[in-house]
Amino acid sequence: MSEGTDRLDVAVIGGGAAGLAAAIFAARRARGSRIAILDGARKLGAKILVSGGGRCNVTNVKVRPADYCGGSAHIIKRVLAALPVERTVAFFREIGVELHEEEYGKLFPNTNTARTVLDALVGEARRLGVEILCGHRVTGLARAGDSFRVETSAGRRTAGRVVLATGGLSLPKTGSDGVGYELAKSLGHRIVPTTPGLVPLVLSGAFHRALSGMSLAVELCIRAEGEKPRRIAGPMLWTHFGVSGPAALDASRHWHRARIERRAVGVTASFLPGLSFENAEARLIDAAGAQPKAHLHGVVAAWMPARMAEAILKELHIEPRVRMAHLSRDDRRRLARGLVEWPIPIADSRGYAYAEVTAGGVPLAEIDGATMESRVCPGLYLVGEILDCEGRLGGFNFQWAWVTGFVAGGALAAR
Ligand SMILES: Cc1cc2nc3c(=O)[nH]c(=O)nc-3n(C[C@H](O)[C@H](O)[C@H](O)COP(=O)(O)OP(=O)(O)OC[C@H]3O[C@@H](n4cnc5c(N)ncnc54)[C@H](O)[C@@H]3O)c2cc1C
Repeated sequence: MSEGTDRLDVAVIGGGAAGLAAAIFAARRARGSRIAILDGARKLGAKILVSGGGRCNVTNVKVRPADYCGGSAHIIKRVLAALPVERTVAFFREIGVELHEEEYGKLFPNTNTARTVLDALVGEARRLGVEILCGHRVTGLARAGDSFRVETSAGRRTAGRVVLATGGLSLPKTGSDGVGYELAKSLGHRIVPTTPGLVPLVLSGAFHRALSGMSLAVELCIRAEGEKPRRIAGPMLWTHFGVSGPAALDASRHWHRARIERRAVGVTASFLPGLSFENAEARLIDAAGAQPKAHLHGVVAAWMPARMAEAILKELHIEPRVRMAHLSRDDRRRLARGLVEWPIPIADSRGYAYAEVTAGGVPLAEIDGATMESRVCPGLYLVGEILDCEGRLGGFNFQWAWVTGFVAGGALAAR
């Protein structure tokens, strides 16, 4: 198609969660506008389909700015306020997706399949007349007068305004391979260096190997130079390579961020969440008073999985069958310390291929939080994971996609 004869009012580059939301909310309020989603993939929504273990954790009952990391906390707060969770839930109900609550406030579709969410979004976009152009990988983006020239693998298009919704670098096989950052840079944006987020951690040493497959409640403490210690409580899963599970995934971005900024960082785990070293030692003293003849291993195993208790005592070279009355002061204190400050020797993470999200991206300071329009390149809007903002585990990243799409869609329609 030749340039000019096929001008789009709005080209949405990337048809993931954020791009679909932006297109839908723009089309709902600007009927008759020519809006197209250009996506490099053969089919839309690969990431939505694999999300939440194939069930898509759409959002969370309670969404606060503190559930997000990235730059410009005041912009995150402002953007989140535009679409409170109740309105997200109402939006999904309107398009035929009823949600239910599960542990930690996570909201899933009642059908328990991500396909329902994807089909409803694509169905709504089509109903509103949004063109969906798969196999259109965007390779270049440039201003041309008051429009944009969009180079794609299927030819050149012209658009009055552009929404950049290309995601980050996580799970690149779903189509988000970082080209979006290059497109944003070509229009004058900076990029906050990216790292994987919500990603399993690879540990050095061999301690974790014998524990592979075991999940337990922990409180991780991340001590990074220049920051207050950060505590993250939740289940952690030991694996053959290191650790995974909610607590480890949530900790990963903080470890990566400190490393990329060349700040010293260390992570410890407490197997007695909420207890201090003094509390843990007092527990051991109390146990020795109450059950002097009990074996140490039996006492510790009452507080955590027996295999975990065994591994800790072995690593500390403390005899598991010692009677509580005979536990030396030195061993008691070493054990109490280990129970609440077990070193987690992180060597690396498993990288973008296993990451649920990308930390870093286009700085929020370069975006108008009331519209998601670029402050650097008027007419360009940025939504979703391409921005320097990511949420913790629990539906917060999709909420960011919906809310940024909602804000951009409304602003596009208003213009
Ligand atoms: C395994 C996994 C599970 C997850 N589970 C959850 C969950 O349950 N709940 C939750 O809140 N979050 C979850 N997330 C995170 C969430 O999926 C993402 O934060 C969210 O999908 C980001 O949406 P997005 O639209 O910004 O980007 P993406 O979903 O990555 O979409 C980007 C789109 O842009 C297209 N694209 C990229 N470059 C180009 C280009 N140059 N030209 C044209 N098209 C392009 C891609 O093909 C893709 O369709 C999960 C992530 C993963 C990887």
